[in-house]
Amino acid sequence: MSLKPILFLVYEFIKEIVMAIMGYTRGGKEWTPKFIESIDVEKCIGCGRCYKVCSRDVLELIEKPFEGEDEYGDDMGNKVMSVVRPENCIGCEACSKACTKKCHVHAAI
Ligand code: SF4
Ligand code: SF4
Repeated sequence: MSLKPILFLVYEFIKEIVMAIMGYTRGGKEWTPKFIESIDVEKCIGCGRCYKVCSRDVLELIEKPFEGEDEYGDDMGNKVMSVVRPENCIGCEACSKACTKKCHVHAAI
């Protein structure tokens, strides 16, 4: 059996560990930030909870794409949360904790 696939997996594994952005708690414990990747607009109800808890100005409410009309002929689209400044994210995951709909996707980088 060729060692190539195994070596590749080991390389990828080590790369993950070495490349991950790490931090430390005040008490000196290691901590891996998980940065915001996306928000599921199908689940989002536009409540704004995540916006309120984010201290880094990463999120913003945007117009939801048009979804038809109600029985009165009014546009049924409303607002949904969007990741507008991902570069500001510190990976604290406060937004996820505030969201009752589990819309946020995070990842360590
Ligand atoms: S992880 Fe923290 S900094 Fe990033 S968007 Fe969520 S609340 Fe804001
Ligand atoms: S807390 Fe969740 S449901 Fe509310 S706006 Fe944010 S992503 Fe949408």
